[in-house]
Amino acid sequence: MEENLAVVLYRKREEIPKCDIVLENRPIKEPDKDEVLIRIHSVGICGSDVHFWLDGRIGDFILEDCMVSGHEASGTVVKCGTGVSHLQTGDRVSIEPGYPLINDEYSRSGRYNLSPMYFCSCPPHHGTLQKYYTHRASYCYKLPDNITLEEGALIEPLSVGIHACRRAEIDLGHKVLVCGAGPIGLVSMIVAKAMGAAAVVITDLHEDRLEKAKEMGADCTIKITKGESAQETAKRIREALGAMADRTIECTGAESAIQSGIYATKSGGCMALVGFGPDLVSVPLVNAATREVDIKGVHRYKNTWPAAISMLATGRIDVKSLVTQRFPMSKSQEAFECSCDSKGIKVIIQCHLKDQ
Ligand code: NAD
Ligand code: ZN
Repeated sequence: MEENLAVVLYRKREEIPKCDIVLENRPIKEPDKDEVLIRIHSVGICGSDVHFWLDGRIGDFILEDCMVSGHEASGTVVKCGTGVSHLQTGDRVSIEPGYPLINDEYSRSGRYNLSPMYFCSCPPHHGTLQKYYTHRASYCYKLPDNITLEEGALIEPLSVGIHACRRAEIDLGHKVLVCGAGPIGLVSMIVAKAMGAAAVVITDLHEDRLEKAKEMGADCTIKITKGESAQETAKRIREALGAMADRTIECTGAESAIQSGIYATKSGGCMALVGFGPDLVSVPLVNAATREVDIKGVHRYKNTWPAAISMLATGRIDVKSLVTQRFPMSKSQEAFECSCDSKGIKVIIQCHLKDQ
């Protein structure tokens, strides 16, 4: 087998970026009984990968030494552990990067995203941005022939949108506000439409992101200008939707967007908080409480891969146009730089060029 080139973040310095991006050969982990070894095809770069590179930490997760990056991945099974029966060599799979480490009340009740997790490229766990990667087989999902491996890598961000829309309980005929037209706002928008939303309005600060949202099916876009009051923004959203939003999916983490999201959501409605901003945020809580606007947290996803695969296979959801740039592994530094300038949407690193 060829060498296992990997993209590794090395924590070195105090200045930003706090990590170096280093390409190096790593040992290939033999699959245990319940694992598969995967020849990685595509890995999407996510905001969190960029965060670890720039800041060396996300909240309490601190990169102390080094970590293989990447968690949005797909590839081909090259070896199965002796206990694996649902996959075989040659199967094309999408990888769910996180699984619960203990059988606690959350994993027993199906909310395994709230248990202590193994999660790729979240310290101390290494990620998928390497030529060969070994993972728990039951969190690898076989792709049907009509789903490409690149789409397989996009199932991870798509899953965030599915879980957010499920948490918000989006239903037939709902008018939906999505704050932020980054990759997560865009997948939330397309999932909301697939779940029966009658209209989706999406906001952003940048015109090019709103253009992309229109291309991908937004019914209306609103460009937010800095300095505008939250009530003014909510008024524009109401006018665009023709009513207050039944459901709001907040995908920016920005205080002003959370505030206008609450004002724009109708009484008895719900806002799902996907975006991560500062720890402490000032929100119009009494306004939300007295109008019974539920504010729900969203932490990654659970049980989303089967639904994502069915929706992609039947063409009911299309994520292909999220990809705006592709780089070989040798240009990983450029790929990271490109994904933090907000010019494109999703940057993909191709780990085996001749498989593409
Ligand atoms: P992104 O930075 O690419 O997109 C965010 C978008 O919001 C940008 O286009 C930005 O211009 C826009 N924006 C910023 N302030 C705004 C405002 N006041 N009003 C309207 N738009 C505004 O990020 P992404 O990858 O799309 O992720 C979105 C958020 O979701 C991030 O905060 C990320 O950390 C978070 N996230 C959460 C989970 C989870 O499990 N809850 C999972 C993945 C990502
Ligand atoms: Zn991600």
